[in-house]
Amino acid sequence: MRIPTTVTLAIALVAPAALSPTSPLAAQEHTGMYDGPTVLRAARMLDVETGEMHTDAVLVVEDGVITAVNPETVPHSMHDMNLGDVTLLPGFIDAHTHLGMEISATSFTDAVTRTEAWRAFNAVVYGGRTVRAGFTTVRDYGGDVTVELGHAVESGHIVGPRVVPSRNALGITGGHCDVTGFAPGVREGGVEQGVADGPWEVVEAVRYQIKHGAKVIKTCATAGVLSMEGPVGAQQYTLEEMTAMVEEAARHGIKVAAHAHGPEGILAAVQAGVASIEHGSVLTDEIMDLMIEKGTYLVPTTYLADRIALDALPPLVRGKAEEILPVMRVSLQRAIERGVPIAFGTDAGVFPHGENAGEFGIYVQLGMSALDALRTATIHAADLLDTPDRGRLAEGMLADVIAVPGNPLDDIEVTRDVRFVMLGGRVIKHVMGGRDMHSMGH
Ligand SMILES: [Zn+2]
Repeated sequence: MRIPTTVTLAIALVAPAALSPTSPLAAQEHTGMYDGPTVLRAARMLDVETGEMHTDAVLVVEDGVITAVNPETVPHSMHDMNLGDVTLLPGFIDAHTHLGMEISATSFTDAVTRTEAWRAFNAVVYGGRTVRAGFTTVRDYGGDVTVELGHAVESGHIVGPRVVPSRNALGITGGHCDVTGFAPGVREGGVEQGVADGPWEVVEAVRYQIKHGAKVIKTCATAGVLSMEGPVGAQQYTLEEMTAMVEEAARHGIKVAAHAHGPEGILAAVQAGVASIEHGSVLTDEIMDLMIEKGTYLVPTTYLADRIALDALPPLVRGKAEEILPVMRVSLQRAIERGVPIAFGTDAGVFPHGENAGEFGIYVQLGMSALDALRTATIHAADLLDTPDRGRLAEGMLADVIAVPGNPLDDIEVTRDVRFVMLGGRVIKHVMGGRDMHSMGH
């Protein structure tokens, strides 16, 4: 049987009305979201793949993507920006954020006193801070709020990072990914909320999260710090449950990220085939060797130990934090030495959003080179998130470009002082002489 020819619809994009010089939107003339190329010039540009530092760098951007890197002839552009003594880098990727929350004295009761609308308004503010800090993509666990935040960012309605969402994380009844600490009947969860026990319920929960927007499945392989259940490292999902989870997610082309602190749960998660271990507080040689063999990423989340507001935590939770956070750094140091694949992740929300770059300095203190630290938040995180369109400054990549003062290979801490952010060709931050010339975001 002959298949009828499909009719191709040519979709004509309606050109935006010309902006008059007096229009408040005229500021957007500098954003590069109109016809013609934007040219970015800077003293330096780092090729994170090769480690090569180019001087007198030129990037050409058009229609939201990079169209040329250091071309022989630079096209004429109405928007030719010289950013001066800065280093251009690909926009950073944080593989572990919580844009739906930020820890405070009320965090443990917000689940029953606040609404999704409150979380959504806050998420807009936190997302704005995150992207202005140079993090143009995040992998976020935050329910429907951060699924929709991602949609709002992609549509251009709000300024924030691109989001790879997990929707609700999968966990056992009463475990770290369930809401605990309340009387029976209060905030009980089922597969829709990600609470699932046994392989078949887990499979159902995976399907439900994917149905409603999950691009990654997040799970709690072990207990955790910021919850009211028992020993922080205790294994929660069985190997059988996690294997069912990974296999079901894989049928949809989706990876699993496992929150895991204790060694039994970490090992089971790695054996089950998760793509990343989040936190990975207690790593044995056996675990690290298996992670190297299987290419399982460690997403360390260690900066939070310096910034978590211990006073805001209930005593049970504070005790767990004080027990696990120092151990986490010892494991990370050994993982760096041994060569475990590492992708950048912070757990932002457990500390104030926008400070994500603080994580880089810890990696360097624990023995990683500055170049490798930058790779964790670019090429490695892009690999983990299955987003090959970002993480490098190369022709055809998304025009997610940032700039830091000086040379980050000499001083990694300059990553905390991002001067320029372009997201999909749109300039959303440009600090010159201490003043942000293109302040967008919240
Ligand atoms: Zn987390």
